[in-house]
Amino acid sequence: MSTEDRKFGFETRMLHAGHIPDAVTGARAVPIYQTTSYVFDSADYAAQLFDLKQYGNIYTRINNPTTAAFEERIASLEEAAGAVGTASGMAAQLAIMMTLLEPGDEVVSSQHLYGGTRTQFVHTFRKLGIEARFVDPDDFEAWEAAITPRTRLLYGETIGNPQGSVLDIERLAAIAGEHHVPLAIDNTFATPYLCRPITHGAHIVVHSATKFIGGHGNSIGGVVVESGEFNYHHFPTIAAPSPAYHNLRFFDTFGHHAFLMKARVETLRDTGACLSPFNAFLLIQGLETLSVRMDRHVANAQAVAEFLEGHEKVEYVAYPGLKSSPYHEAARKYCPKGPGAVFSFGIGGSDKREIGKTFIDSLNLFSHLANVGDARSLVIHPASTTHQQLSDEELEASGVGPGMIRLSIGLESTDDLLWDLDQALRAI
Ligand SMILES: *Cc1c(COP(=O)(O)O)cnc(C)c1O
Repeated sequence: MSTEDRKFGFETRMLHAGHIPDAVTGARAVPIYQTTSYVFDSADYAAQLFDLKQYGNIYTRINNPTTAAFEERIASLEEAAGAVGTASGMAAQLAIMMTLLEPGDEVVSSQHLYGGTRTQFVHTFRKLGIEARFVDPDDFEAWEAAITPRTRLLYGETIGNPQGSVLDIERLAAIAGEHHVPLAIDNTFATPYLCRPITHGAHIVVHSATKFIGGHGNSIGGVVVESGEFNYHHFPTIAAPSPAYHNLRFFDTFGHHAFLMKARVETLRDTGACLSPFNAFLLIQGLETLSVRMDRHVANAQAVAEFLEGHEKVEYVAYPGLKSSPYHEAARKYCPKGPGAVFSFGIGGSDKREIGKTFIDSLNLFSHLANVGDARSLVIHPASTTHQQLSDEELEASGVGPGMIRLSIGLESTDDLLWDLDQALRAI
């Protein structure tokens, strides 16, 4: 049986997809092609490349062999048609919008979003003439009601925080289908190991690869993934002649790859927010151990969530792996191997802002910083950091109470994590 007939498992693709040993040197690991540009074989070949009649390397802002290995590996793991790497998760989100939308267009988005995403959707979109409408992700009538003839995209996160809400992707994909708009899912907190939104009907998947994909807190990167299943036949920006590429009709020319081709040769070309080959290399190192790390992240997160839920100084724990979570059933369906390792809990007491600070300062192993998805355990107290300018009432309204603590559980010895949290809770 040849390898072409075999559908390899997730772990095998994590290690092998998108790369064969280098034909010239035999290098087994994916080499870092640290080059800006590529010599053309002939003037004719160069002309074909620029006319998109041939696919090949032109300039690293548009494509690069190390980045291509990362892109192909992600596409394989997400069961997608292709992927485009970007400078960051924020750049990946912006690339989707700049590829699909025009001034006057609208996005309907879940309101359970990463804070930076909400800011981007409200403020940067306004400068582009794009409106984002936010809805409660569990209220499907609200999704329907927010869609207008100018809606060009539905958007949500697989696992939203701080609520630990698991999105019903299939239900949302059905709504997207009825209204002929694509559905984009930010799958950062789940990774393709825990959830593959395309297999549930999503058309576009986006990641901050900065988090669990890289997994070691050393590189910023992002990626946009396309299912190849959305019919862009009547979708203005993808079907109509594009003046930015000598009136090319992307859907007629590239079919299932139209959205990503446009994202690459127009959006990346013009925004310049490409992934560096060195970061692509580091993200590939992360991908090669993704399943092993995620199993361990999830096991530690479940143990920590159960420990906190039973602790007298803890008011609530919002982890969908707990039976007490309203999202427990959805988590079992969409993330059967576990709903990630980022979640929030609330500490009790009267002056919660102060108690939160004392708790953070008493921790030893957990690093106090603004990131998630590191191999090391991380903690942040939004009320005294990212959200400190808000009043207690405003904090509650944005779903971030004064006593809320967000954890990103790492790969340390489970007992050590429980010990650290226990002694910090005793200190308050
Ligand atoms: C971090 C993050 C982003 C933004 O990604 P960057 O790589 O930091 O630009 C977007 N969405 C989610 C869910 C994130 O956690």
